Amino acid sequence: MFALSSAIGRRLTAGPGSELVVHWRRGADAYRPQMADLRAAGADRMVLDLGEGALDAEVVALAAEARRAGMVAEVVAAPAAGWTAEMVSELREAGLARATVRLALDAGPSHPRRPVWEPSEGAARAVDAALQAGVATGVGVRLTRNSTSRLAALLEWVERSGLHGCDVAHVMPEGRLDWRAQLTLPGQTRFALRTLATAAWDWHQRRLPARIRTWHGPADPIFVYIWCLRHAPEQAPAALAAARAKAAGWPDVAWIDPLGNVAAVAGVPALTLGTVGRRPFSDIWLDRGRAGWQRTRALYDDVGAPCAACRWSSLCHGGERARAMTDLSLGGPDPGCCLTERETAAAG
Ligand code: SF4
Repeated sequence: MFALSSAIGRRLTAGPGSELVVHWRRGADAYRPQMADLRAAGADRMVLDLGEGALDAEVVALAAEARRAGMVAEVVAAPAAGWTAEMVSELREAGLARATVRLALDAGPSHPRRPVWEPSEGAARAVDAALQAGVATGVGVRLTRNSTSRLAALLEWVERSGLHGCDVAHVMPEGRLDWRAQLTLPGQTRFALRTLATAAWDWHQRRLPARIRTWHGPADPIFVYIWCLRHAPEQAPAALAAARAKAAGWPDVAWIDPLGNVAAVAGVPALTLGTVGRRPFSDIWLDRGRAGWQRTRALYDDVGAPCAACRWSSLCHGGERARAMTDLSLGGPDPGCCLTERETAAAG
């Protein structure tokens, strides 16, 4: 399978052999992850989301603890202060497997006919430091109505910089609360996914070691499958298998916010599963009979039209429920669905 994948999948029960990623967001008085507890819940990968935070001794200690517990550790940050190669090297020695630098695609000069874009100096330095330290390095961006047109410029820069890839989100987990401002239109979403698929396929054919991952929504892998049918048919079976595996693996990401609230669907406070300050994460995550899990499951059981009649509903389960709040109804349609009516119509 060429290296375009979606990080988001949905299903109502956990599938066998799936990977559980714990995404922990650091805050001022944050809950500090207890790695043995996360591992006891089946976590394979620990993403330390540092916000604008620096790479300090606590981050080094957390990476080392994750490795000792048998997990792969990653950091994600938008470094305001500079990272140095020495700092990242220390982290790599402690067990860091990957560093993702968040970039602001909205910032900087541009031209309506030929969108141009360059990262901020601090972000570019952080990328250089991570590359020098020899960790797998990528960048993460959030697409908005105003920044989608810069995607091609970003991809050019990623390739020029020799990076290992990029994560592209339309609504990043921490951005869910301001999703109204961030939401792109379905047409822009399709444009963005087409651009990403084309770049991923091009990089794959040129044997470049790059991967592109989208965080837009559960319909992304289906878009990739349909794109493959049209443009790279030999990849289509693998794309469909990836979409099925992703759907079977749900819930495959556990979100822990700075207050310690745990969720399988980020950004909807009513779907909080529990708080790690009060109960261990493993208890919250594995006890599927509790009210939070029942509410989460009910949300997907009650999805209405058009998702209920969609031919892909067994893989997508109604798209991104946080976005359905556009209609003030969690059971309503996902307004960011990237597929056309023709693509979602039941096979006749
Ligand atoms: S219509 Fe709904 S279920 Fe179908 S692909 Fe779009 S979001 Fe998913």
